Amino acid sequence: MDASKIKVFVDFDGTITPKDIGREIFLTFGDEQKAEEIISNLHKGIITSRQCWEELIANVHSIDEKKIIDLIDSISIDDSFISFVEFCKSNKIDIYILSDGFDFYIERVLQREKLSWIPFYSNILRIDNGKLSAYFPYYNPDFNSSSNPKMQHIIDNSSDEDYTIYIGDGNSDKDAAQYCDLIFAKDGLLKFCELNRISFFPYKNFNDISETIRRLLSKKRLRKSHQAMLKRKIAYEAE
Ligand SMILES: [Mg+2]
Repeated sequence: MDASKIKVFVDFDGTITPKDIGREIFLTFGDEQKAEEIISNLHKGIITSRQCWEELIANVHSIDEKKIIDLIDSISIDDSFISFVEFCKSNKIDIYILSDGFDFYIERVLQREKLSWIPFYSNILRIDNGKLSAYFPYYNPDFNSSSNPKMQHIIDNSSDEDYTIYIGDGNSDKDAAQYCDLIFAKDGLLKFCELNRISFFPYKNFNDISETIRRLLSKKRLRKSHQAMLKRKIAYEAE
């Protein structure tokens, strides 16, 4: 197997950072109880991801940019992600970050960790005179679980011959993960896969993932997911 054909798509909040930074910002700077209620409505499927972000933003009355930056800087990433990135580099595996969170903090965290070379796709957050505004450049009303339709970036950045891997933990990963040949799941994504009989590897940290991929690489051929191929085909036909 030519390792250059393996592509890894990884979620950001709750996956690369153990804490969900987007969530933390809105719980800290908005009315906390109301923010909890909005997030719980998203998880219950009452509102869409985009509605969730819009309601959370409306729940923040004014914000001090410096305080947001201090909060972002206080949140660390999963240590094992750094060695996982090294592992990918040395095996010529491409890596992409797909997030239903915001560029504002992803960029800052990646810069701090000297990982800004990793391409990422996310929503956009701006702070102007103490006011937050969000933009959703990739928004597709057909997908409610993520304001940034992650599967579109998977399709745009891989060919049918590539072996695609998804790593995630939550709501915004549910649809996208099914477009990949292999899924690594924890928390909400794990429960979703179990419930829907979607095959996946459970993981605790990125060391578990490197270990599994290393085992796969030692095989002569990687078995692609028939289900993922079908999903991709339907997506091409819709385009
Ligand atoms: Mg997540």
